[in-house]
Amino acid sequence: LTAAEEEVLDEIEAEDIDFLRLQFTDILGTVKNVSVPARQAEKAFTEGIYFDGSSIEGFVRIQESDMRLKPDPETFAILPWQNREDGASARMICDVIDTSTGEPFEGDPRRVLKNTLERADEMGYTVNAAPEPEFFLFEEDDDGRATTETGDHGGYFDLAPKDLASDVRRDIIYGLEDMGFEIEASHHEVARGQHEINFEYDDALATADNVATFRTVVRAIAAQHDQHATFMPKPIPRINGSGMHTHLSLFEDGENAFHDEDGQFDLSETAQSFVAGILEHAPAITAVSNPTVNSYKRLVPGYEAPVYVAWSDRNRSALIRKPAARIPAASRIEARFPDPSCNPYLALAALISAGLDGIERDLECPDPIRENIYEFDEAKREEYGIETLPTNLGEAVDALEEDEVIYETLGDHVGPKFVEAKSQEFEDYLVDVSDWELERYLETF
Ligand code: GLU
Ligand code: MG
Ligand code: MG
Repeated sequence: LTAAEEEVLDEIEAEDIDFLRLQFTDILGTVKNVSVPARQAEKAFTEGIYFDGSSIEGFVRIQESDMRLKPDPETFAILPWQNREDGASARMICDVIDTSTGEPFEGDPRRVLKNTLERADEMGYTVNAAPEPEFFLFEEDDDGRATTETGDHGGYFDLAPKDLASDVRRDIIYGLEDMGFEIEASHHEVARGQHEINFEYDDALATADNVATFRTVVRAIAAQHDQHATFMPKPIPRINGSGMHTHLSLFEDGENAFHDEDGQFDLSETAQSFVAGILEHAPAITAVSNPTVNSYKRLVPGYEAPVYVAWSDRNRSALIRKPAARIPAASRIEARFPDPSCNPYLALAALISAGLDGIERDLECPDPIRENIYEFDEAKREEYGIETLPTNLGEAVDALEEDEVIYETLGDHVGPKFVEAKSQEFEDYLVDVSDWELERYLETF
């Protein structure tokens, strides 16, 4: 056992942990758990825990379904929302191992991100990322089902007493801190019932792990207050949706490779090529970073979400923004299009690999747009050469299939499975008849 693994065993003993939840994510980003008695921890580290992968979305075919979970000891955390008297549980995030080869399973989204980070490493870079997940807190009805009613009437940065949900948010933050999160800030967002909690940046893999954990913790603690937390991108039409702005920076030899005092907005050539890469691959990335039918109801003009493929140093309607940095080491870019329904491993892999492609090909960054792009008409967009993001999931999936760089980033296993699942999802949507249609047409015709 490694020192880190030994430490976990000691902690299991000291904290009297009964159960271990071995956690991983499927292709769609849903967190899965296999629960084992804590005394199996040592075996989990040495051999891994076997499970049947055929029941996991997009994992494997039935005849090759034996998978093994290998916990990453660095991710050990006690679950704060469980009653300690009933016996405590802890979780660890796992890598998935293909039993037949003993190699990491290519269909594991965590593996996909690791592959991209290895490519960054070969180019001399480590990647830091920080997400800003937004979410809504909704009331539950008498049967415990989620509604779209909110108990609060707060607005952006409002404080109590209007912000009734601040109690829930406070408990969520305590829970996150118990699990080792460094919370930077939390505030009420623009829409009724909408919140944002920011946690500290970390390397990209830890950040993806954190997003997966974050969603679980937020939902579990909200549920204790009879509230439903949702990361659905646009639960209510005609008000702001929920994004997951993603801040990214590259470090080279311990120095921020995005910072250059003499560059535009203090950004280095490297940063500008990275931005250019994301802009070029944006339509394909969208399929991964905005992977639901509902995602595209957020990406419409007027709600602080991007629609057009452009970048800026301040503009909130732009796809990429350069936030002000206090110190050179904090130099970074903010991708504003991802939403919190994405698989964080795949979304980060797609964004980073697009940026690296921009660096490798030495792509030139277009001029930043400092005006409000929502107000541009088509002629003006054409004049500036501004493209539009895919307007629905179907278009995004088509763009993904046509974009070799992003499609290959997902790998031979995840790429086709992802496209298949998302094409099916879009088709299901197309043949469905919505409430909107019934209201509009049922009595009219
Ligand atoms: N909720 C907005 C979105 O959908 C973002 C608001 C903000 O700038 O934080 O991206
Ligand atoms: Mg926000
Ligand atoms: Mg932001």
